[in-house]
Amino acid sequence: MHPDVKEIMFSESEIKNKIKELGERISNDYKECESITVVGILKGAVIFMSDLVRSISVPVFFDFMAVSSYSSSTESSGVVRILKDLDKNVESKHVLIVEDIVDTGLTLNYLINNLRNRNVASLKVCTLLDKPSRRKVDVRIDYNGFEIPDEFVVGYGLDFNECYRNLPYIAVLKPEVYRK
Ligand code: 5GP
Repeated sequence: MHPDVKEIMFSESEIKNKIKELGERISNDYKECESITVVGILKGAVIFMSDLVRSISVPVFFDFMAVSSYSSSTESSGVVRILKDLDKNVESKHVLIVEDIVDTGLTLNYLINNLRNRNVASLKVCTLLDKPSRRKVDVRIDYNGFEIPDEFVVGYGLDFNECYRNLPYIAVLKPEVYRK
């Protein structure tokens, strides 16, 4: 275990099993579709997306968006700026947003409204983690890996000051690390 980690919330094998389950549900729900355009939200969703797509049997196209919320490091403001937009037009496509974590829901709410305006054939959301107790806006999540309590987590793509993204598990850091 990494020396900065206080406790592992979800192990590699728990994540792997959950992704298999999500992939099966998604494959079944989209089985009549020609393809899915999976939109990964950079950078946190990259690792989750790369494992998830390998458990989906329907043909998948990749695209990515990067957004930043105008906020302090801990509180989301709801004002979102697009740092990187999609490469391709998604009109008439079945779009699946892949997120690492939904916290206040403000980022996702912005993304849903933004993508909905592009005349997509369908729009759904898949997130690995969900913190429902922190929600500020009601957002519909179609596929949710794990519900978690109000704790700041890292690993498996999620960072703290850009560190810890490569941990293969989801973990809570020791309190002194956040205070640094
Ligand atoms: P929201 O707009 O839902 O408040 O924020 C979503 C974004 O905040 C996530 O995509 C993620 O970047 C960040 N975030 C929220 N909670 C956590 C957390 O517990 N750990 C990490 N590393 N990022 C988080």
